[in-house]
Amino acid sequence: MSSNEKLVEFRNVSFRYGAEQPWVLKNCSFEIDREEWVAIIGHNGSGKSTIAKLMNGLLFPQEGEIYVAGKKVQEDTIWDVRKDVGMVFQNPDNQFVGTTVQDDVAFGMENRGFPREEMLQRLDDVLHAVGMVDYRLTEPHRLSGGQKQRIAIASVLAVSPKVLILDEATAMLDPRGRRDIMQTVAHLQANKDVSLLTITHDLQEIVQADRVIVMNEGQVWDESHPRELFSKQDDLLAIGLDVPFIASLAKALKQTGIPITKEPLN
Ligand code: ADP
Repeated sequence: MSSNEKLVEFRNVSFRYGAEQPWVLKNCSFEIDREEWVAIIGHNGSGKSTIAKLMNGLLFPQEGEIYVAGKKVQEDTIWDVRKDVGMVFQNPDNQFVGTTVQDDVAFGMENRGFPREEMLQRLDDVLHAVGMVDYRLTEPHRLSGGQKQRIAIASVLAVSPKVLILDEATAMLDPRGRRDIMQTVAHLQANKDVSLLTITHDLQEIVQADRVIVMNEGQVWDESHPRELFSKQDDLLAIGLDVPFIASLAKALKQTGIPITKEPLN
């Protein structure tokens, strides 16, 4: 495939969890480019996690099409698609299989039959990438929440996905753990290791993204750079993202040094 092809494409995707159920996603279209960091925000129940599950073939849309690295996501491509789409979820305690950090990170590589030499090299690389190289022999349950999520990220990165999805991956962490993860993510982004999709409530996690997709009632309500999103504060109010949200967005933008064009509401 050519290098300017989109990495992920949602084309007019509609999804519901059953024929009698309401539509969760309605005619959603968006794209993720190679090396891009896209953040998805929206209320609880606006369909964010469903998007993540559709992207790696845990679910299939009733209408529309999804492409990952040029492959349509369908029954006969899911194993290829899942190699390209790595996911880290909310609960850091549900993601371990190994008794030590290095066993855990090696597990996915062993399953895929990586040669031993390559496995050792990759293990080293990904532990460096998440800043956990000194913890190889630590038992995962002894790690802090943020460290556990960094290992979960390392395990996913070890098998070289093209896109890494963090689905509320910081939601159960304390502020330090969140900071840890966001530093790790910013580092991955700076090195262009992987495209990133962060699904989040935390504004610190959207201000550094290249693009923010705002979901509302199952539809893509807006796609903007974080700064542009801020300038749409009246519209944000109209879909119920409240004043604290907007004020926090302003603060987070300021901390990141991104200029804003409109005074925050107080
Ligand atoms: P978000 O991640 O934005 O909170 P979700 O994608 O998890 O939203 O959920 C979107 C909607 O789909 C919600 O109304 C939720 O109740 C519903 N939903 C999620 N998972 C299921 C499921 N397994 N079966 C039926 N409905 C579901």
